[in-house]
Amino acid sequence: MTDLHRLSIRELSEGLQSSKFSSRELTQHYLKRIEKIDAQVKSYVTVTPELALAQADAADAAIQAGNASVLAGIPLAHKDIFCTQGVRTSAGSKMLDNFISPYDATVVSKAKAAGLVTLGKVNMDEFAMGSTSESSYYGATKNPWNLDYVPGGSSGGSAAVVAADLAPFATGTDTGGSIRQPASFCGLTGLKPTYGRVSRFGIIAFASSLDQAGPMARSAEDCAYLMNVIAGHDAKDSTSVDKEVDDYVANLNATSVKGLRIGIPKQYFNVAGLAADVKARVEESLKKLEDMGAILVEVDLNMVEAYVPTYYLIAPAEASSNLSRYDGVRYGYRCENPVDLMDLYKRSRSEGFGEEVKRRILIGTYALSAGYYDAYYVKAQKVRRLIQQDFLKAFEQVDVIAAPSAPTTAYKIGANLSPTEMYLGDVYTLAVNLAGLPAINAPVGLDDHNLPVGLQLIGNYWSESQLLSIVHQYQQNTDFHTQRAAIAEENA
Ligand code: GLN
Repeated sequence: MTDLHRLSIRELSEGLQSSKFSSRELTQHYLKRIEKIDAQVKSYVTVTPELALAQADAADAAIQAGNASVLAGIPLAHKDIFCTQGVRTSAGSKMLDNFISPYDATVVSKAKAAGLVTLGKVNMDEFAMGSTSESSYYGATKNPWNLDYVPGGSSGGSAAVVAADLAPFATGTDTGGSIRQPASFCGLTGLKPTYGRVSRFGIIAFASSLDQAGPMARSAEDCAYLMNVIAGHDAKDSTSVDKEVDDYVANLNATSVKGLRIGIPKQYFNVAGLAADVKARVEESLKKLEDMGAILVEVDLNMVEAYVPTYYLIAPAEASSNLSRYDGVRYGYRCENPVDLMDLYKRSRSEGFGEEVKRRILIGTYALSAGYYDAYYVKAQKVRRLIQQDFLKAFEQVDVIAAPSAPTTAYKIGANLSPTEMYLGDVYTLAVNLAGLPAINAPVGLDDHNLPVGLQLIGNYWSESQLLSIVHQYQQNTDFHTQRAAIAEENA
């Protein structure tokens, strides 16, 4: 079989469970594609063929024995921010280039327990800070739709592997948009769950009050399968919530689009910098949902101008604290021949961290310093609460809120945006993390450079099922999610 990489997760599951093909065949098929195509895309930081084939054989044995779970034997790629036992976990940084994790993140151990096969670890912006994946120590990943463009970030590798058919689905993390924006740039479906839905244990921390893991895949249905594996309470993460987990697959048709109230925040559609093509595709998708029976309702989200400054205060503040552990002593990069302890600290951190990470440490340390704490950090926390309240007020009128995922389609590689230009590109995603809400990206067509455009739907707390269901039904009525990136077409 040559087209195994075109199958959906459900089709892969059916094929494996009925022994139409084995997990070993499927895994080898993907490993061959990676070998053939990934030199162009540069999405994998580490490929783990031995681990993958051992897991594939175990899955095949379980299937033969008739006690395999539904996803047993299906390959998966992990963002290189999830700790994987015995495998390098770099977070895209020179600081962790030599770090072999002694344990698995909960997301990884859950994936293993479900019988999923780990193909490898994929590229990302350094410590998940960025929107292009260019800040990785391992170099830029390319957008499979056009190799001159970025795949987005920070989960750019996760998006690129799926869009290039180098993995059927992937894990990502989203602190301020890092699942939704690369999903948007690469024509994929990606879900950022409610804060606390998925365990953060073993995820290299960026901004702990914002970080959340989620699935990136071609369709809402594929995402639902992965959510069924990774969602749930974890005693090892005190911020994970002990609340019953939905069956996301069973619920794919449970939400009625007919009568669904979709809020349209008019302030979002007036943002300077919203590209005309993006606006047009998003509006067409909303028209389609309206044709399917949804009711579009104008809502107010008045805090838009506060999103970028608030996030870019809180996220760096938390990052500066989280990244203090990389001191050259315990693990990670250590400079050569330090003359004393101060020299060891200074040079290990100066040499081990890249420019964007250092910029954030500086901003965060400044904002948390004694003289400025109240003026900046405490103030930002107060604004954060106002942003959350703004959403809750809107959810009194509507079921979900629609927005673009990003104001533009993918940037050219090397476009060299200034930090502030890059930060402004996050305007549509940041508030969701500040409020802890779930949100999903769905592909809704292409711009005039043939680059994908994404619609974002933001839900109330714990509405992952509803978001997946709405997008699933939209995808039953449209075919944007089935369009393949150029490099996937060339290697069909
Ligand atoms: N682009 C945002 C940032 O650079 C979001 C990153 C993320 O979600 N990890 O911080």
